[in-house]
Amino acid sequence: MQKTPYYLIDKAALRANLDKITRLRERSGAKCLLALKCFATWAVFDFMRESMDGTTSSSLYEVQLGREKFGGETHAYSVAWADDDMPGVIAAADKVIFNSISQLERFGAQVSEAGIPCGLRVNPGISHSGFELADPARPFSRLGEADPDRVAAVLDRISGVMFHNNCENASLEVFERLLTQIEQRFGHLLSHLAWVSLGGGIHFTGADYPLDAFADRLREFSERYGVQVYLEPGEAAITGAATLETSVLDIVENGRRVAIVDSSTEAHMLDLLIYRLNARRVGDGGPHDYIVAGKTCLAGDIFGEFGFAEPLKVGDRISFADAAGYTMVKKNWFNGIAMPAIVVKQLDGQLEVVRTFSYADYVASLS
Ligand SMILES: *Cc1c(COP(=O)(O)O)cnc(C)c1O
Repeated sequence: MQKTPYYLIDKAALRANLDKITRLRERSGAKCLLALKCFATWAVFDFMRESMDGTTSSSLYEVQLGREKFGGETHAYSVAWADDDMPGVIAAADKVIFNSISQLERFGAQVSEAGIPCGLRVNPGISHSGFELADPARPFSRLGEADPDRVAAVLDRISGVMFHNNCENASLEVFERLLTQIEQRFGHLLSHLAWVSLGGGIHFTGADYPLDAFADRLREFSERYGVQVYLEPGEAAITGAATLETSVLDIVENGRRVAIVDSSTEAHMLDLLIYRLNARRVGDGGPHDYIVAGKTCLAGDIFGEFGFAEPLKVGDRISFADAAGYTMVKKNWFNGIAMPAIVVKQLDGQLEVVRTFSYADYVASLS
């Protein structure tokens, strides 16, 4: 039995998302690329490849990982490329998407001469996001070209555009409203292009999401402009597919009962701190309340307050949901605490340990 802490990826839960992605691709004609910045645990890429067309990226290393471990179509996007990124990007990418016209001007010819199509990120100036921190259309955003006239002037150098302006958008109605506004503002440009990516942030794998209506809207968009539509799901592809498994190391009392686990928000579930969220605990509640906290010396390293059916004792297991997206990719060595192993629950229920980390990995992470 693997000792805690570990991230546990459940292939059956992942399969449920992938089946929806397959249905969406079939009905809409859209291609779906996994956004590696959200989830890059390549142990399950063989499994995901059956239901997705490839990957999209935010850096040279992600482009390389996508090519090497996932395959299929490899889109290369970055907020800003450096000169020495280009050879590696050109060797691995099927498309290179620039964040600005100045980057297109600097690197576009080099990419086109290598026979790789170029794209441009366009910022439509409207978005759906619950957090300003993650809102690509926030004031003074650097994420994409905002002026339709400036985009029109470079249409001969690009074969497509990418809009990414949704974040955890669970409403088809809101998505449609935003897409219609994009069409009003940029529609005259789109029919000159071969492809349009509508980015990620659309929670179409959610339980109540009207998947078929979403697919039909994408097909209609694709036919109206004669473009191949791409989606870049990160969170939607892996939502609900992993937990963080921890054990209680100590229970202290200082006005409230606090259970300390062998993990940490800051080191192993960083987004809880960044977005000031409570973890979601897997399991039934109960009358015995505890603050559940991490073992780093950060005073506010707290997963949340939870009720338990029985009083907690040292060694009890506590598992936290939503440990796939933006979680494993952000784990770090803060406080030098043991990094969670990665375990995959196969479809037959068998647990397979695919990675463990040791003191040697900690040492190697610095010098
Ligand atoms: C973050 C990001 C995605 C993935 O977003 P999710 O919310 O995880 O679906 C896709 N495309 C781009 C350009 C991104 O920046």
